[in-house]
Amino acid sequence: MNRNEIIAELKNYFSISDLVCPDTFQSFGQSAWQFLSTEFLHTLLIVRRDILKSPMICNNYTKGGGTFRQRGLRCNLCDLVKDKTADGKIYLSAHITGNAGDFDVKGMTAMQARQTIIDNVSQLPYPIRLEEGVSWLHLDVYDSGKNQPFTLFTA
Ligand SMILES: [Zn+2]
Repeated sequence: MNRNEIIAELKNYFSISDLVCPDTFQSFGQSAWQFLSTEFLHTLLIVRRDILKSPMICNNYTKGGGTFRQRGLRCNLCDLVKDKTADGKIYLSAHITGNAGDFDVKGMTAMQARQTIIDNVSQLPYPIRLEEGVSWLHLDVYDSGKNQPFTLFTA
C-alpha cells in the first residue's frame, strides 16, 4: 500500500482531528495528515483494522466536552511540550515527530490490547514500541535498532 492508499483506508476509522492536537488541527485541518509518518499510519491501520478490530479513541476534543487533547501528535504549543522547553529539558517523544498515539480501545483494557498486538505482531510492517504499565495503549514506531518486532518501554 502506498501512503495515499493507507490514509484513504484509515479515514474509515479515524478523523485527523483525533490524531493531532487541537492547535495543529485548527491551523492545518485535513492537511495535518502530512505530519504523521507513513510507518505510523500503516501500523495504525493494521492494528485497528486487522488486529484489534475495535474502535480506538485517541483525542476527542471535537466531540463536545472531550478532554483528550495531547494523545496524538503534539506541537510546540501543547503544554506537555511547552513545559519541557521552559524547563530546559530535551523532549523527543514519538508524539512530537508524528510517530505515536495513545488510545483507549473499546471493549478491552490497555493490557489486553497490548497482548493482542504482541500476539499478532507478525502482521505489522514495522517494529513497534508499546509503553508498559499504563492504563492507555501507547503505540509508536520508533525503531530501537535491535531488530526486534516489538519493544516494551516505560516512560
Ligand atoms: Zn499542540
